[in-house]
Amino acid sequence: MMKDLDWSNLSFGYLPTDYNVRCYYCNGKWGEIEICSDAYLKLHMAAICLHYGQAAFEGLKAYRCPDGRIRVFRMDENAARLQATGRGILMPEVPTELFEEMVTKAVRLNQDYVPTYESGATLYIRPLLIGTTAHVGIRSSEDFVFIVFVTPVGPYFKGGFAANPYVIIRDYDRSAPLGTGMYKVGGNYAASLRANSIAHEKGYVSEFYLDAKEKKYIDECGAANFFGIKDNTYITPKSTSILPSITNKSLMQIATDIGMNVECRPVPVEELSTFEEAGACGTAAVISPISYIDDLDTGVRYTFSKDGKPGPISTKLYNHLCAIQYGIEEDRHGWTKIVVG
Ligand SMILES: *Cc1c(COP(=O)(O)O)cnc(C)c1O
Repeated sequence: MMKDLDWSNLSFGYLPTDYNVRCYYCNGKWGEIEICSDAYLKLHMAAICLHYGQAAFEGLKAYRCPDGRIRVFRMDENAARLQATGRGILMPEVPTELFEEMVTKAVRLNQDYVPTYESGATLYIRPLLIGTTAHVGIRSSEDFVFIVFVTPVGPYFKGGFAANPYVIIRDYDRSAPLGTGMYKVGGNYAASLRANSIAHEKGYVSEFYLDAKEKKYIDECGAANFFGIKDNTYITPKSTSILPSITNKSLMQIATDIGMNVECRPVPVEELSTFEEAGACGTAAVISPISYIDDLDTGVRYTFSKDGKPGPISTKLYNHLCAIQYGIEEDRHGWTKIVVG
């Protein structure tokens, strides 16, 4: 029975669901998958993840589709990215098969919590991998737990697909060029909290980071990748300190499919003035179109939308990607997996 909840009123908080799925790594190998109805973890207070940040996560969604099925988008890509993160901060790789089995189980066990198609809400899936060995000296953990939990989340755009303002922040860096920016590790987000709070205080939806070394090129906006559109070309920054977004990767493919050119290269800040459209992209919003970006240090405002309406190409890319996720448009690249139905 689908839960009778008010899906329209959901935020991006945490709403309890019935089950989570766990798997422990010890003595150099993964154990059996466990189904758990407890939302709490029993963790040693000296666990390495708590002190030294050996913690990684992923984020993806399950969609209740108009054909009655529930689909998950590109979970093999999330598995691959978690493996890259694991190599990056010395954690064991969660095999793709195990990752997909646990994600599928977590969605199936909580399928009553997948919101209706009409609500625009979805079931957010959060895989979490943490080092649990109790040890006070700094070193890598030997024991790990991999957990997949789910929670329903509301539609990103409550008042419909719309453009929002962003602000360039130079006083804080999210990640260093040879640091952990390309991995989805917890510490990166601790490093971004101050800049994010300043952006919010000033009335922007999110902060914009430049490359930490020269402050010349665009890196990312908050926890989303950036893209600009001009001359029928989709342009997105290439940098060692940004998180490789699966949404961005998918949008690059869709742009190619609809006959656009795609460039992944360093994007100098001044080039912002040449874009016809710009957006932030990630699982939460798919695309969050950008109305303008303020550079408070130089006093320059880069405007992409004067009336708050998304541009035609951003809208087209957004509609294609959503239609694939909801099983409405042909999934020619095999991106979705039916987990229920
Ligand atoms: C998760 C994340 C993204 C978006 O990645 P998706 O796979 O598209 O959800 C972008 N930037 C950062 C810093 C992130 O953590």
